[in-house]
Amino acid sequence: MEQPKRIGIIGGGLAGTFAARQLQVEGYEVEIIEKSQSVGGRMATRRIDQGTADHGAVFFTVRTDELAQEVDEWLERGLIRKWFGDDFPRYIAINGMNQLVQSIARGIPVHLNEQVGRIEADATTLRTIADSQTRVYDAMLVTAPVPQAYDLLQASRLTLDATDHAALGRVTFEPTFVGLFELKEPLEIGEVGLADEGLVPGMLKLVNNAEKEISATPLLSVYMTGEWSEAWYDKEEAETLAEIERLLQAQLGPVELISRQLKRWRYAQARDVFNTPFLKLNHHPLWLAGDAFLEADDASGRTRVESAVISGLRVAATIDAHFKQHVLTK
Ligand SMILES: Cc1cc2nc3c(=O)[nH]c(=O)nc-3n(C[C@H](O)[C@H](O)[C@H](O)COP(=O)(O)OP(=O)(O)OC[C@H]3O[C@@H](n4cnc5c(N)ncnc54)[C@H](O)[C@@H]3O)c2cc1C
Repeated sequence: MEQPKRIGIIGGGLAGTFAARQLQVEGYEVEIIEKSQSVGGRMATRRIDQGTADHGAVFFTVRTDELAQEVDEWLERGLIRKWFGDDFPRYIAINGMNQLVQSIARGIPVHLNEQVGRIEADATTLRTIADSQTRVYDAMLVTAPVPQAYDLLQASRLTLDATDHAALGRVTFEPTFVGLFELKEPLEIGEVGLADEGLVPGMLKLVNNAEKEISATPLLSVYMTGEWSEAWYDKEEAETLAEIERLLQAQLGPVELISRQLKRWRYAQARDVFNTPFLKLNHHPLWLAGDAFLEADDASGRTRVESAVISGLRVAATIDAHFKQHVLTK
């Protein structure tokens, strides 16, 4: 009997985790390689003293049947809940967005704290090289944000077509700063703990994680706009955090703070997207997927939780079809 094909997936965000789960179901030997200390990627949650704050995705919405099916199951398993909105609900994960990815990744082999520096190819296999670690696969999937994925491919010994260079090189992402502030006293933000209108210039969203019911303490996540984050990107972190705090005080009036922290996302949201849910390199069994790879008829046109999930599912189906086709034509 033929050995199961080995698929290496770079990136344990939503796209990588969904692709991994699907390929595992189809009988492949799958491994995720993740540079951070946990899976989740931009589904990010931080513990601060006794509190918990989301500092990546705030909530998610559903337009596709596939995600709707997952949502029904997650609701049943108590992994998520509806935050607000009747016609177009906003969902959040119980105990923070990162927990949802952790739950989906359960049972999938993951190598954490391993940043792939380059990929090498020979006639039949691909190898990831990370510090002193080398891993060998029959096929690979790269789900890092496109500019990072392109940097990785350029540092690798792979053959890329001019069309791949052109397609990948044009995609840029905008950065996002998120300030995390622990308040001395509870405070209500809007009706449900979210304000995204009437905010001071530069501020995109203000979220109270206590009202979101993921934090035992009043912890605010202050999301800055892409434009503001771009302008402040290269300044000292202390100066940037102080400015976000000044804007927060201007927004809310004087509030007493216990602590403050800063999160800087270099690649938060794609400015340019693909109109295809994944990309395959012509010369290698290597695919790219992630939130910037949208279906041609995507109803939103934006990178988001749903686009990452759908991209992961589509690329998994294609990798499976690739190997099944291979067997049939042998
Ligand atoms: C601040 C912020 C707010 C957001 N708010 C919302 C929202 O409210 N609603 C919504 O729908 N979406 C939101 N999003 C977008 C959403 O979070 C993303 O679209 C989605 O999580 C992306 O998933 P992904 O798997 O494509 O990429 P990622 O989550 O970025 O996963 C890629 C993974 O690859 C890893 N990686 C990269 N390079 C390497 C390497 N060389 N070796 C090993 N590992 C590597 C990274 O560490 C990361 O874990 C937000 C994003 C941010 C940053």
